[in-house]
Amino acid sequence: MLDTRRIRPDFPILAQQENGQRLVYLDNAATSQKPLRVIDAITHFYSHHNANVHRGAYALAVEATEAYEAARTAIARFVNAWAREGVVFTRGTTESINLVAGSWGRANVKGGDTVVVTAMDHHSNIVPWQILCQEKGATLRMVEITKDGRIDLADFGRALEAKPKIVAFPYVSNSLGTVNPAAQLSKLAHAAGAVTVVDGAQSSPHLRVDVQALDCDFYALSGHKMLGPMGSGALVAKPALLEAMPPYHGGGEMIERVWDDRSSWNKIPHKFEGGTPNVEAAVGLGAAIAYLEQLGMDKVSEHEQELARVAIDRLSQIEGVTIYGPRDHRAGVVPFTYGDIHPHDLATILDKDGVCIRAGHHCTQPLMRRLGVAATARASFYIYNDLDDIDALVTAVRKAGELFGVLAS
Ligand code: PMP
Repeated sequence: MLDTRRIRPDFPILAQQENGQRLVYLDNAATSQKPLRVIDAITHFYSHHNANVHRGAYALAVEATEAYEAARTAIARFVNAWAREGVVFTRGTTESINLVAGSWGRANVKGGDTVVVTAMDHHSNIVPWQILCQEKGATLRMVEITKDGRIDLADFGRALEAKPKIVAFPYVSNSLGTVNPAAQLSKLAHAAGAVTVVDGAQSSPHLRVDVQALDCDFYALSGHKMLGPMGSGALVAKPALLEAMPPYHGGGEMIERVWDDRSSWNKIPHKFEGGTPNVEAAVGLGAAIAYLEQLGMDKVSEHEQELARVAIDRLSQIEGVTIYGPRDHRAGVVPFTYGDIHPHDLATILDKDGVCIRAGHHCTQPLMRRLGVAATARASFYIYNDLDDIDALVTAVRKAGELFGVLAS
């Protein structure tokens, strides 16, 4: 496991208390905390290099542009992108997927076509496709999941019989923790003639990702879940696809020439980065990647998987606790319910003991319907969590059970 005694002091927020108790932050699937290295990188940028990028002829503007473009290179290296020109800065996974739907989707999907998603997708990998399909008169096909919380491969195969234009799925589920066989799914989808879109919001922070090995076409990631700033993220794509795609946002920077009635477009990736970008977010994300690379992504995933294993083991010993998701091939996300205690009540009670967990549908309402619950409680781990955090979680859950006089449902 990682040496959390060395990691924790890098995160100033962890020295704070929550309701007078040690802060036990277990909502990392929603967003991660930020190390000083990221906070300092942002402060340093504004203190020493701030200027608009790609425009000025003066030294400061060149420095700002270099800092911004260095972050692009860092992302490309981190996920083994096809080329750094295939990395488009966005506000995160949601914007990345909307970019693909709004550009590639609008240009290529016609009435009668099919787009495939899965029942474990986050709303951000469902709703943009619903909007596209409604606009085009196309069909959105949702692939079912198995009882143990995996993509049903038989149903995936049936969905491919419609020869879909796009197949979208999450690498890691935020509500179940399932790590999907992304390379295998991509290969099957390509054999059916589809373009593949991988939601990498929960994989980039937690696994070693190699988009070329996955051989997907588009990969979306969010910086704020991987130690980076809010509003940072990227779409990583095969450059040839980006070249052929129409722009998504019109404005400054994304053009080559502008005539009175029409324009020509800048080179990729700038064609998709209209307007002044969030340079501080890019710089912060670059620093976050450097921090993760120093730890090593294999160690990061081992650490979280071990925490999840211990948490599942200990929570399962509490009568009335139900854990969701598969027993193996899972990331550090532990969704659970406890008898008839509403997950929101559970999260509120746990907060009194300084334990921050998420409760709700986790932006996966189609999945919740299939699980037959309105909501779950969810503990999700990251590099600074340790066995003391799991002790605190389990103790607080047991206490909540005593308080509510829980009955196993
Ligand atoms: N997909 C998954 C699997 C997620 O967990 C999230 C964030 N909860 C998103 C997409 C959306 O990410 P963002 O809000 O950063 O755009």
